[in-house]
Amino acid sequence: MICEFCGGNTEKHMVTKTHWLHSKLYFLEDVESEVCRECGERYFQAKVLDKIDTLLQSEHKVERHLQVEVIRV
Ligand SMILES: [Zn+2]
Repeated sequence: MICEFCGGNTEKHMVTKTHWLHSKLYFLEDVESEVCRECGERYFQAKVLDKIDTLLQSEHKVERHLQVEVIRV
């Protein structure tokens, strides 16, 4: 597809996506995305986002937990 921001071409990549749901942050690995070769903008299909919501709201396996530092600059 063509990037909406810069007009560049996109290509399919598996990416790590951050996702907030009910005040919890999730890191989702191996999410199918179209990534702009020029500016790096990422596009996700609606069906992929629906699948993520369904997955997070049902029983799901947690690969690991991360510790995150929040810093005010
Ligand atoms: Zn772009």
